[in-house]
Amino acid sequence: MDRLTRVPGLLYGGDWNPEQWPEEVWAEDVKLMAEAGVNLVTVGVFSWARLQPDAHSWDFGWLDRLLDLVHRHGVAVDLATATASPPAWLVRAHPELLPVTADGVRLEFGSRQHYCPSSPVYRAAAVRLTRMLAERYHDHPALALWHIHNEYGDHVQECFCAESAADFRHWLRRRHGTVEELNRSWGTAFWSQRYNSFDQVEPPRTAPGPVNPTQLLDWRRFCSDALLALHRAEKAVLDELSPGLPVTTNFMSMLKALDYWEWSRHEDVVSDDAYPDPADPRAHVNAALNYDLMRSLKQGRPWLLMEQAPSAVSWRPVNVPKRPGLYRLWSLQALARGADGVLHFQWRASVAGAEKFHSAMLPHRGTAGRGWQQTLALGAELRRLGEIAGSRSRARVGVLLDWDSWWALELDDHPSARMRWLDLLRPWYAALYDRGTSVDFLPPTGPYDGYRLLLAPNLYLLDTATAERLTHYVRNGGHLVCGPFSGITDRHDHIHPGGHPGPLRELLGLVVDEHWPIPDGETTSVHLDGRELRAERWSEWIETEGAETLARYGSGELTGRPAVTRHRHGTGSAWYLGCHLGPDTGRVLDLPLAEAGTGPELPGLPDGVEATRRRAADGTEYLFLLNHGPADRTVPLTRPGTDLLTGTATGDTLTLAPLGAAVLRLPAPEERA
Ligand SMILES: [Zn+2]
Repeated sequence: MDRLTRVPGLLYGGDWNPEQWPEEVWAEDVKLMAEAGVNLVTVGVFSWARLQPDAHSWDFGWLDRLLDLVHRHGVAVDLATATASPPAWLVRAHPELLPVTADGVRLEFGSRQHYCPSSPVYRAAAVRLTRMLAERYHDHPALALWHIHNEYGDHVQECFCAESAADFRHWLRRRHGTVEELNRSWGTAFWSQRYNSFDQVEPPRTAPGPVNPTQLLDWRRFCSDALLALHRAEKAVLDELSPGLPVTTNFMSMLKALDYWEWSRHEDVVSDDAYPDPADPRAHVNAALNYDLMRSLKQGRPWLLMEQAPSAVSWRPVNVPKRPGLYRLWSLQALARGADGVLHFQWRASVAGAEKFHSAMLPHRGTAGRGWQQTLALGAELRRLGEIAGSRSRARVGVLLDWDSWWALELDDHPSARMRWLDLLRPWYAALYDRGTSVDFLPPTGPYDGYRLLLAPNLYLLDTATAERLTHYVRNGGHLVCGPFSGITDRHDHIHPGGHPGPLRELLGLVVDEHWPIPDGETTSVHLDGRELRAERWSEWIETEGAETLARYGSGELTGRPAVTRHRHGTGSAWYLGCHLGPDTGRVLDLPLAEAGTGPELPGLPDGVEATRRRAADGTEYLFLLNHGPADRTVPLTRPGTDLLTGTATGDTLTLAPLGAAVLRLPAPEERA
């Protein structure tokens, strides 16, 4: 069994901020936690000022009493290192630890995450606090999980102060070795940007015009690494003083600033904070994408939904609550996509501070209203689902996701500023979602074992070695679909010479003569098998070199030229979409999906119903059926099972009410014989 923590079953609970309350309230809190089935609370995320009131004193008495109290009530603790918000006394003693913007503005105290990622003072203070906590609590019986910091990169992703500049130069020395190599990598022959020594290099502060693109790309890499170095410093302390206890930090879904492939290598447990917008009718599709990423970061290992809101958040311009049933459905969606727990921000609603209008498991109204009833109901349902903990899912379609490509694609002075990574990814993902086909995310370097079909919505930055791996995959019978503007630059963001798509040219069997972005508000028609699709944002002048043309442009300057191609290599195939097809992307993806034999999880799935599977080590399957639509839906079932939510056996079909859900236990095939 692959458990996230020593706590059995699914995890249920949330951030608990008892420092905001008198201790009499704690007694009520733990009583209500037991009533709701809460088995894990996150404590201390913003407790630094309380734990260390000044430079010379510590106050752990309250935390001692708190941990003992929750342990007596059978609740385990995810103990935070409290380092995301340094206290005022530290900031006033060392104002140089405050972060500086690209315009030279030093950000003030009074919010949170007010620290420079490269500040030695901040780092030493954070490591010291982590050490004090680990020494004191590593063997506390309530402790089940360590929680480093909070939402790295939420507010401060970069800092342009002198300390950061020095740290950037160290990073560049390690990466490039010599200043000659840096000059070559950055292409400083252009615009007379040559450096004579590393000492002349600065962060990409606000400049008169466009800043060197490779400098910007290296800066993005450095900023992710600088925050990761902070995380690793705390992790090293916990690994030393609290060996064997799992450690996590809460990720922020698809976050551009942090390369989560690299970060997740340093996590024992992947956890995520997810806040889909109840006002967005397609929010569940984007949530599915984020959850699939979290599951994929550790190759299918269960992850933890560390934060969600029971209802409204407080930080959007308009904060719409979750209508009745949505909280339950969206909680089950996280489990359906591999989570082994549902935690919240937060347990008890705050009465003061920036998040006092953020919903909570225990709302301002207390136990009288709908919110508390939902908290009780979800806790009861999670107990019924306890056996799914540790089960996994594995897709046969992989989506390639690369932070280097994301960062490089969105640099300035490209053929079109409209080529944004998430805008390119989302229609591809939505097409798969709408077809009920499960996907995993992969780094472009693989490994690709077990995947019949790889989708690459964009590989703008692609080194030759990775292109060779993809070529090998296709030549061995795999199917690869590449999106537009791929294979353009190498790891230094230098154009691959000799025609686009560079190292993919032979694999795809084509050359791109010129990029042909489509102006805002215009579309170009694309003809595919007698059907008309609409391209937006982007098209390309393609000349085939062995590839078959499957779709051609039907309007504009490129009329008659290839828009979608396929190049066969034995039983494998390499497909290319030379344009951005937005909502029509799925009409093309149907072809490789069919050729690769990668169909939906459940044939005949009605519109609006999401179906995913998890499998336990003993072969038992759990089929999640979630109705996101506004009407009753009847789902055809291929095997008899038992709905764990109701305890009832299922027949040939199952009807789900609007926002209704079922979690079917399907016995392992040999048991059915
Ligand atoms: Zn700095």
